[in-house]
Amino acid sequence: MNKLQIFDTDLDQELLDYYLNSKSIAVDTETMGLVLGRDRLCLIQLCDQAGQVSVIRILQGQTSAPRLKLLMEDARIVKIFHFARFDVAQLQLHLGISTKPIFCTKIASKLVRTYTNSHGLKTLVQELTGVELDKSSQSSDWGNAVNLSAEQLSYAANDVRYLNTLREKLTVMLEREGLDKLADSCFDCLPTIVQLDILRYPFIFEH
Ligand code: MN
Repeated sequence: MNKLQIFDTDLDQELLDYYLNSKSIAVDTETMGLVLGRDRLCLIQLCDQAGQVSVIRILQGQTSAPRLKLLMEDARIVKIFHFARFDVAQLQLHLGISTKPIFCTKIASKLVRTYTNSHGLKTLVQELTGVELDKSSQSSDWGNAVNLSAEQLSYAANDVRYLNTLREKLTVMLEREGLDKLADSCFDCLPTIVQLDILRYPFIFEH
């Protein structure tokens, strides 16, 4: 395996079994927009440490993906996101999936890369791997999932392709600066923050 694999509604058993042997899986989602509860989930992208990318197309009105749920809730496998707060909420709200454990490259970056205010995926991939990401399909119609263009598929795949490497590099930096334990506590409290987001609480830690 190494070619991009595309699925409708859920992973197949073969790829689930393959991914269940991984220590970490990078995850991203594409939606119709950024408003939680209004905008539906269209696409889920996955990538293991060996670079096996898969894309799952989610149907309108779909409320579960049992094989994906097994993977996302497996306590032995770390799920890596860039801005996990958004994707974890999408998976919870639309598919009833409680993702854990979590590593968020955006939180890690904000904790350790205090020399910059740029914590977007493109900047991070550029600085830590030297690769220039093409983000031109970022705002596009993901709802027409059966007819995704080659550009959209390649964009979607690239959003997960570098997350395993970013996690490795950021972990080295966090440990060097003595921030790894704090990062772990931040990741551990993400499910609570996601629950508050879903229930539409404003940020309750502020005055
Ligand atoms: Mn994306």
